[in-house]
Amino acid sequence: MKYATFDYKGGRYVGRVNATEDSVDRFDLSETDVMQNGVCAIIGIEPPEVVDTISLSDVTLVAPVPRPHRNIFCVGKNYHGHAKEFASSGFDSSAAHGTVPQAPIVFSKLPETVIAHGDAIQIDTTASTAIDYEAELAVIIGTEGKNISTDNALGHVWGYTIVNDMTARDLQGIHSQWLIGKSQDTFCPMGPYAVTADEIDLADTFVKCWVNDELRQDSNTGLLIFDVPTIIAAISNGITLMPGDVIATGTPAGVGIGFNPPKYLVDGDRVRIEIQGIGKLENPMEELPS
Ligand code: MG
Repeated sequence: MKYATFDYKGGRYVGRVNATEDSVDRFDLSETDVMQNGVCAIIGIEPPEVVDTISLSDVTLVAPVPRPHRNIFCVGKNYHGHAKEFASSGFDSSAAHGTVPQAPIVFSKLPETVIAHGDAIQIDTTASTAIDYEAELAVIIGTEGKNISTDNALGHVWGYTIVNDMTARDLQGIHSQWLIGKSQDTFCPMGPYAVTADEIDLADTFVKCWVNDELRQDSNTGLLIFDVPTIIAAISNGITLMPGDVIATGTPAGVGIGFNPPKYLVDGDRVRIEIQGIGKLENPMEELPS
């Protein structure tokens, strides 16, 4: 199943996206619950009652989980090609520990960074002049758990979405901890939809990213260094994962910093990410007036 969180006639709703992707079945859910939890409002009550069917052209999509309760968990350097390009970029403050990590590198992004498909990603040149994209499959946790084993990990997954783990490379390089470079305002485009776990074959799902019409990233989730069960086991080691937690699993090779010279994003660029089975997440770059 494919679900959307959306605004329509002054309200916020969750619905099921129909197979032709031109309409959405709007669910009967409490608006408070939808405002707080987005698509996660349906966890545990699937399938909710359908109120009506609305044309997708009449709604405004918001991120599937528009304002997560907690920071977005993220995994760094989780594809071999990207680990190599980043370690050699000069901006990798973790490079002293080796090109390929021995354990998952986990950092986070502030919840306020989340924006929707179509929203502008801000370029604030007073803060950064090295802004980059990262196409990533993101896990949405459905069931609480702590010290989760790899064998049980996928049982805690409700579904998946797309995250663009936007990064200010200069700030990432200055600070050993990556939070500032990863949490600039608008730096977590998410969407356009969320899909239930059964829709994704983790062993073989393509991840692609274009800047304008240039294909920059073209990989497959089967190439993750640390797979989704390993990531969930690592993060839940002494930390309780909660329904609605979002985990971005890492980006493949082909980010802007992997080019010589680097191809940073500029005003007017459009970043489009496609992940098989989920859809296309596209956002324009917009430079703030100085
Ligand atoms: Mg990333």
